[in-house]
Amino acid sequence: MSKYIANENRYEKMKYNKVGNSGLKLPAVSLGFWHNFGDNDKYSTMEEMCFTAFDNGITHFDLANNYGPAGGSAEKNFGRIFKEHFKPYRDEMIISTKAGYLMWAGPYGDGGSRKYLTASLNQSLERMGLDYVDIFYHHRMTPETPLEETMCALDQIVKSGKALYAGLSNYDGPTLEKATAILSELKTPFIINQNRYNILDRTIENNGLKATSTKLEKGIICFSPLAQGLLTDRYLNNIPEDSRIKKDGRFLKEKNVTENREVLLKLNDIAAARNQTLAEMALAWILKDSDITSVLVGASRPSQILANIKALENTTFTKAELDAIDKLTVRG
Ligand code: NDP
Repeated sequence: MSKYIANENRYEKMKYNKVGNSGLKLPAVSLGFWHNFGDNDKYSTMEEMCFTAFDNGITHFDLANNYGPAGGSAEKNFGRIFKEHFKPYRDEMIISTKAGYLMWAGPYGDGGSRKYLTASLNQSLERMGLDYVDIFYHHRMTPETPLEETMCALDQIVKSGKALYAGLSNYDGPTLEKATAILSELKTPFIINQNRYNILDRTIENNGLKATSTKLEKGIICFSPLAQGLLTDRYLNNIPEDSRIKKDGRFLKEKNVTENREVLLKLNDIAAARNQTLAEMALAWILKDSDITSVLVGASRPSQILANIKALENTTFTKAELDAIDKLTVRG
């Protein structure tokens, strides 16, 4: 028997946003399993993070086939947590996974083929011990696969009942538009885009994704909203031993801190003048925008999840604040 009983006040403070023009709502803050849920991480910390998130209204947990390391281990660990504690709450949870990056050897474990997507989702469901996921994403554009094949695979997956909704991740505006045309014709419930978006990375403002998604009435969930920790107080003075850079620097490196520190310190001053931490301001900056459904944060400990939810307390910015942030961070 699980020791976990969800907090009965869990829905009181969280805000829930409609995903585009669909009937689904997601919490304004969602939790991702890319880091800190692999084989090298402590199981009890993973459990505590899931409890803290769910107890505070974070109903959405985001995974992918390859999260780890090793690939698959985040889904396996989540599956154990789910089986031990969350089974009674399945209908209150939105669980997503993805396929698109390299997962297994040979020609069928990478990309966008119908073979890969179908086989990968079957593996993910088995690792997580689920009958279905709520959202299944194609993880990246794969120009070598006909778009129609990938979209028909997503359609079939949803219609088979193994996923309730389809999503696209890391697509750009023009490809999103073509994909949506196919999915609309098939009447596939494609509802959401997952892309990187934060104060330091404006790619979706420039590649058409943000405007096209809004035009097509799709949702956007933003990954790495804290730029993997850069947009927090973590690296303002030094590089702590227990930080992502020191523990698992595959994607975030010391040079990213060095290159950005001056800007981060100035952003921190703007946040302080708003009575926010840098992390709170970074999340609030994304959530001020009605095009955005949710910020998809990562965390290495429960206290970070609580700190991030505080961002919801003030998501309003003055023009002067926005201009000051843009002046520091928009290039060209
Ligand atoms: P973030 O930008 O939120 O970075 C998370 C990291 O920031 C944490 O691990 C922690 O670092 C630090 N942090 C978080 N909150 C705080 C706080 N309040 N104060 C201080 N430090 C804090 O997101 P991620 O890069 O982790 O990405 C989030 C999720 O997005 C992933 O788990 C995944 O689900 C999804 N994603 C999707 C991708 C895609 O291609 N679709 C690609 C990448 C991510 P530390 O460990 O140093 O404590």
